[in-house]
Amino acid sequence: MNETTASSLPPGGGGSGWGGAAGQSPGRVGARAPLIGVLALQGAFREHVRALEACGARTRLVRLSGDLEDLDGLVIPGGESTTMTMLMERMGLLGAVGQTVRGGLPTLGTCAGMIVLSDRIADGRADQAVLGALDIGVRRNGYGRQVDSFEADLEVSGLDGGPFRGVFIRAPMVEEVGEVEVLAEHGGRPVAVRQGRVMALAFHPELSGDLRLHRQFLRLVEEAKTA
Ligand code: GLN
Repeated sequence: MNETTASSLPPGGGGSGWGGAAGQSPGRVGARAPLIGVLALQGAFREHVRALEACGARTRLVRLSGDLEDLDGLVIPGGESTTMTMLMERMGLLGAVGQTVRGGLPTLGTCAGMIVLSDRIADGRADQAVLGALDIGVRRNGYGRQVDSFEADLEVSGLDGGPFRGVFIRAPMVEEVGEVEVLAEHGGRPVAVRQGRVMALAFHPELSGDLRLHRQFLRLVEEAKTA
């Protein structure tokens, strides 16, 4: 596996420039690390917290709508989109998250998170709600049962340092794209997309030990803060 961890990255190498490294980035003295909420109802949220903190961000687990206040960004993790959506409904989070994301909060969705952010689902639960924040149509578990987990090297636009090892676990297949920018493809299908401040990946960047996509998301967060 491609091991790129916080400690193996050069200081400031596409890095955060926030927090403890006083003197390293004089232009950023006093800049506060961004606060990223990680939806923590179900799924791989701890791994995102670890990756974001390794990039120098502050994190907050999001379980109630009040947890969305004053965030600089939001991550919707992988897991099981049907369960996650049901829990969001139950916790009164579905409307609140939808409003926040559509209101312009930079958001990263991975795997099940991509499904939750999408506009149209095939093979979802009949009453499965989506946030409609990304103009894409996805098929749940679209890569089929035999190959429901695999890894692939991906060329991601805007990412320096060679291909990114994508870990796909019962991944959604993006079958339709509208007004989104495709950042990476695999087998002729989009696997990374962006629309405005919303980014979504069909794979799990938090499991590959490579922080570059989290850093890319945090750059989007920074741009939004200074916009
Ligand atoms: N198949 C899952 C779903 O439909 C997604 C899998 C994942 O997030 N690793 O939600």
